[in-house]
Amino acid sequence: MDFDARLAPYAAHSSKSRGRTHIEPPAGSRSEFQRDRDRIIHSTAFRRLEYKTQVFLNHEGDLFRTRLTHSIEVAQIGRTLARSLQLNEDLVEATALAHDLGHTPFGHVGQDVLNECMKDFGGFEHNLQSLRVVDELEEHYGAFDGLNLTFETREGILKHCSLTNARQLGELGRRFLDRSQPSLEAQLTNLADEIAYNNHDIDDGLRSGLLTMAQMEEVELFARHRHMVETQYPGLAGRRALYETIRLMITAMTADLVETSRALLLEAAPQSIDDVRASAPLIRFSPQMRAETTALKRFLYANLYRHFQVNRMRVKASRIVRELFEAFLQDPVLLPNDYQVEGDPMRQARKIADYIAGMTDRYAIREHRRIFSLDHF
Ligand code: MG
Repeated sequence: MDFDARLAPYAAHSSKSRGRTHIEPPAGSRSEFQRDRDRIIHSTAFRRLEYKTQVFLNHEGDLFRTRLTHSIEVAQIGRTLARSLQLNEDLVEATALAHDLGHTPFGHVGQDVLNECMKDFGGFEHNLQSLRVVDELEEHYGAFDGLNLTFETREGILKHCSLTNARQLGELGRRFLDRSQPSLEAQLTNLADEIAYNNHDIDDGLRSGLLTMAQMEEVELFARHRHMVETQYPGLAGRRALYETIRLMITAMTADLVETSRALLLEAAPQSIDDVRASAPLIRFSPQMRAETTALKRFLYANLYRHFQVNRMRVKASRIVRELFEAFLQDPVLLPNDYQVEGDPMRQARKIADYIAGMTDRYAIREHRRIFSLDHF
């Protein structure tokens, strides 16, 4: 079956994949990247995303984004972009659904604290942890640890990486050392992630009451589209006005990205994925859209991510993660048997990080209670 028929020459072709670490027979009715996506959906780490924080803790409200719904939105936006640019939708979808698998409980604070706790043991990076999940930690198949995904999906998952870690990753780490680019699908998924969170965080911020519509009008990108909605539907207010505004913003961002990238691709005229890897980034926003999304991000950072109510949860969450890590490091016998390592402090610390990173928000809260409260066991 030809899975690559409609793809541009510079797309990631399933038939030309660099393959999997453990050689397997072809997937038959599915392309290699479809198989990757299916393995990701069937993984344990994927189901955990439902109970991991995006910005708001999972139990703060039923309608806020979680890592799971965020990942699905990234996949949706990513597929749309990929189809417009004749790139590989299946690879984009696989990468999008896997991109946050290594996220700790409690959003970014979890990763920052774990990184501090691990500073004498090689540090902690959530991108690298996502890769660790799919390469090693998932226990699903008889023949290998992890999910044995293709090189291209793993390349897309590893968005960032320190040079020290890159040196230990062989072929996959090379682009961080020689500053080359990943596939267009990886570049695209990265920006689909940004489009998704910039827009859904506005929605969640307003729903929570931490942001107000009046405040949002300070953001040019929002104000302009809000004004377009007002012109089309005079007097429309409340949630519908908000959703219409966000809808227009997502459309504007995706259209800008497609148009800008198409022009860059025409000019650079890469003939293969290897040409793509050797050239400058080719999936981009226009300079104006880049400036506007940066202003939006800055606004969200100052007014939402650092809102005092979010800060309170952040500080509480960082205490939970730190105290769990310290307790386990001091007394590894508190860990489930699988996570205990004798006589190798480096490996023991890494196991503790794996254990904590794998926790959902509520599991971490319960575990903290079990370890520290005399009333809970
Ligand atoms: Mg994300």
